[in-house]
Amino acid sequence: MFHQLTLENIMSDKIFAAGSCRCGAVTVTVRDKPKRMVQCHCTDCQKVTGTGHAANAFFAESDVEISGETSSYSVTADSGNTVTRHFCPICGNRMFHHNTGRPGIVTLPAGCFENSDWFAPQIVVYTRNRPDWDLTTNEVPNFEEMPPPA
Ligand SMILES: [Zn+2]
Ligand SMILES: [Zn+2]
Repeated sequence: MFHQLTLENIMSDKIFAAGSCRCGAVTVTVRDKPKRMVQCHCTDCQKVTGTGHAANAFFAESDVEISGETSSYSVTADSGNTVTRHFCPICGNRMFHHNTGRPGIVTLPAGCFENSDWFAPQIVVYTRNRPDWDLTTNEVPNFEEMPPPA
């Protein structure tokens, strides 16, 4: 992606967080804090992470810049929405996903960032699928499934 380096662009080039896949072929830059942060125990998140839950941050699409080729795989979620997950075709790291139920939002896993100290889950969802061995916080609202949109 090409940016004209005018003074105005440099001034507005603030970076909230930056990350990449394991091999570095796919990089992500985020310009502002997430709209929502969620720990999700749904069975899809368990499959794609290979563990008991996903730590997902929802960003405004306009704040996110992604570079590098990705492969993708779409599934139909419980809600009937289509979730398309993009991953690095070289190292296999999952990088981001889109959900047709959340237009304008890009979801990124907290673990893809160089520094994720800012990640603070606001809700935990699909606790009915939480395995006994996987711990998530009880200090924020926990929901058996996906709560209605806030
Ligand atoms: Zn990679
Ligand atoms: Zn999930």
